[in-house]
Order: sequence, then C-alpha cells, then structure tokens
Amino acid sequence: MSLYLPILMYHQIGAPAADHKPDLYVPAERLREHLECLSDLGFHGIGPDLLAAALSGAKEKLPSRPVLVTFDDASAPAFAPVIEILAAGGFPAVAYFVAGDEGTLPGRGELSAYVQAGITIGSHCLTHRPLAGLSDEAVRAELVESRFRLEAAAGGPVEHLAYPFGSYGRREVLMARDAGYRTAVSTRRGNRHRPSERLCLRRVPIRPDTDCRRLTRYLGAAWHWEHAIKERLGFERRNQRRAHP
Ligand SMILES: [Zn+2]
Repeated sequence: MSLYLPILMYHQIGAPAADHKPDLYVPAERLREHLECLSDLGFHGIGPDLLAAALSGAKEKLPSRPVLVTFDDASAPAFAPVIEILAAGGFPAVAYFVAGDEGTLPGRGELSAYVQAGITIGSHCLTHRPLAGLSDEAVRAELVESRFRLEAAAGGPVEHLAYPFGSYGRREVLMARDAGYRTAVSTRRGNRHRPSERLCLRRVPIRPDTDCRRLTRYLGAAWHWEHAIKERLGFERRNQRRAHP
C-alpha cells in the first residue's frame, strides 16, 4: 500500500542569477500562490521526520492531506525571505544544503533561527557531484562528511538527504541507509511512496510557470501513475537527468 504524500521540489526562490538556469528560479509571488493553492485544497505542510515516521508505519500523527515542501541547492543569503513566506503560509519545509560550499551555508545563529521557523536542515552532499559516477569511498565521504559538517553547524541531527542531480542507484540507497539517513529524495516524478522507497522518494518538480492549475494536476493520481508507468517502461530516465541540473 503506498502513502499519498506529495513532496514538492523547489530550488531557488526569486529572480534568476545571470549564470544560472532560469527554470530553477521560482518567483516569490508564485511560491505564495502555491501555498494558498495547497491550503485551499485542504493540504497541510509537514516536516520530513513525520514523513519518515509515516513510512515506518506511524501514520497516526499525519494531518489530513499532508504535503512536504523541499528546497535543493539551498543558499543562506537567498533563503531568509523564503522562510518568511513559508511561515506566513503555515508551512514547514526541508532545505538541503551543499555542506562543502561555504559560500551558501548559513551561520550557526542563522541555522537555529531556521529550525525555530520550522525548517529542517538536510544534506545535498558535500560537493554536489552525481554520486553514481563516484567511487565507493567518495560516495561515503559525500554522505557521511556532509552530514557530520551540517550537524556540527546546526547543533542537531541531520537525517534527510537529496541526491545531487537525482543521481542514485542501489549502491547509493544502501550507503545512505548506512550513513544514517531516514529519508532521501530523488528526482523521480510522483506523489505516492512505498515504504521501501524511503531512500529514493519521488517528487513533484516545480518550475517558474507551474501555476495553481498545473500544481493541482501534479497532486492527482493520474499524474503519478502516468510517470510511474513511463518509468517502468524506461521512458523517464532522460527526463530525470534534465529535471535537476
Ligand atoms: Zn542540486
């Protein structure tokens, strides 16, 4: 039996930087629109700890229509206004940081403010490289060292992971488990999860032009099964690589 719990995948919020892909930048106004849309549809934001517990069988703590908001490539300088928007909308979230990128990491004081505002700190590995192309030793360092550094900075556990470029396989899932992660998100498309998928969770990709109508479609069963079937037939791989540069 799968758990219906859409995980929205955002990257940056705001105007695109000149040297980046504009598809990864969602205007702040659009994020507000999404949160209103979710509230109107009866969704309630949760953090990744509740998701992990639900996938382990403890579903009783889940609100009705739970949804998880995630941010990959989180960058401290740009994230403060995002926290305000999330708090105003009543949504917690998880922000995945690249632990080896000093320029984007929040300071210790900032991190505790994040946590107080309902933001869970997650790992987006150490150097943001596709894990599938690395040696076992390098993958272990990406998973363990990033967790260690973020935990030292946050002063609390870091148990949730986002694979850079959505790059993972069976080896990465097993190593993420051994490194102590309770959940890991991929770029596979979908809004339902089997308990066995807790370290390769599907997400709903959000682009700048994703309006409320399109978001509503992405939250439906038809959209999920369309992608699950395409994936089974082998049509989704190219799409996944493009989905998360
Ligand atoms: Zn990334």
